[in-house]
Amino acid sequence: MPRLVMKFGGTSVADLARIEHTAGLVKREVDRGYDVIVIVSAMSGKTNELVGWVNDTSHLYDAREYDAVVSSGENVTAGLMSLRLQQMGIDARSWQGWQVPVHTTSAHGAARIEEIGTENLASKFEGEMQVAVVAGFQGLSPENRITTLGRGGSDTTAVAFAAAFGAERCDIYTDVDGIYTTDPRVAAKARKLDKIAYEEMLELASLGAKVLQTRSVELAMRYKVRLQVLSSFEDKPGTLVCDEEEIMESNVVSGVAFQRDEAKMTLISVADRPGIAAAIFGPLAEAGVNVDMIVQNISEEGRTDMTFSCPINQVARASKAMEDAKSAGSINYHALDADENVAKVSIVGIGMRSHAGVAQQMFKALADEGVNIKVITTSEIKVSVLIDRKYLELAVQSLHDAFALERAG
Ligand code: ADP
Ligand code: ASP
Ligand code: MG
Repeated sequence: MPRLVMKFGGTSVADLARIEHTAGLVKREVDRGYDVIVIVSAMSGKTNELVGWVNDTSHLYDAREYDAVVSSGENVTAGLMSLRLQQMGIDARSWQGWQVPVHTTSAHGAARIEEIGTENLASKFEGEMQVAVVAGFQGLSPENRITTLGRGGSDTTAVAFAAAFGAERCDIYTDVDGIYTTDPRVAAKARKLDKIAYEEMLELASLGAKVLQTRSVELAMRYKVRLQVLSSFEDKPGTLVCDEEEIMESNVVSGVAFQRDEAKMTLISVADRPGIAAAIFGPLAEAGVNVDMIVQNISEEGRTDMTFSCPINQVARASKAMEDAKSAGSINYHALDADENVAKVSIVGIGMRSHAGVAQQMFKALADEGVNIKVITTSEIKVSVLIDRKYLELAVQSLHDAFALERAG
């Protein structure tokens, strides 16, 4: 029998009525003759609540216990979905990550899937089982502990199962009806795309578009999984993530992404000498700080300012790493300034490879709105800027307008 993976995010399984509705979508595919692997998220808000409980119990928590707690939301929905399907006369059962098993690395809270054992599920599909309902987001470490795949990780579970089981398609059901030119909750003019290239989606996801977890797009690209994002609320076509060659549309910029919770840190007056960058960014990496943008200012009299950005919730860790390095004598600076009121906005498009002047057009659009740019980074297919958070919505909307994203190219 052909196989299909159907993934339901938090809002799609938010309560018993939603679970009943989505079970109906699964039944429709079973009736069409598919063996279906359903991947479920926790009910919406549940994972946040669990994370909150861990933080309130222990600030510097043991990441293994964080995973034990935070993975549990998915177990509930997997069981409830199976029960609902059984009531519809479908032979369904739930699977927790360890039962499959989903083998991961031991990086708790951000584990990567290494291998999915396919035998257990495959033999059940050969028997009576019509639907396997798998708890997303979770796996098993080499040390036999429960792991989680990072926030939004059920998307990655879904794509990994589609690849491992050779599914015809991987359908990601969510609360929007596809992938848009930008978050439709921020820009009313956002336009739904019929198709988007893996590479563009990868860039958008890694720059903050949370509609798909970055790692899920990476896996889909590597294993050529036909990945579709669609609504569990409305019955209409979604967006297909596919090869560049399958796409006719030719906008230079295809989307705008943003990350709201960024911080900009500046080490004021560090000695400008060979090895200074390594002396700063080595300890930051060791402390687990995800440094994103970096700027070194022009030096005067042998001293310079070094600026970098990181997620706002890593500011304390970054500050401590710098203070420790200063005490140890490996770096020296006059002051460390943390600006916690910034956000990152990025434009993405494969067309930028062959078009000059895109960055300039972006800077002009922001200047016209009076938005000051604090840091810039570019790559072949994106330009990112750091701006004051209060201008985030304005910046996203004005860039959407400036590149006429409401119109298909
Ligand atoms: P789920 O719980 O189903 O996994 P998420 O909240 O993780 O859903 O992802 C869906 C959300 O992603 C949408 O509600 C939307 O606000 C947001 N989003 C951000 N960027 C985009 C985009 N470019 N296209 C569509 N949705 C986007
Ligand atoms: N429930 C997890 C989260 O909220 C995983 C997911 O929904 O994909 O991050
Ligand atoms: Mg999600």
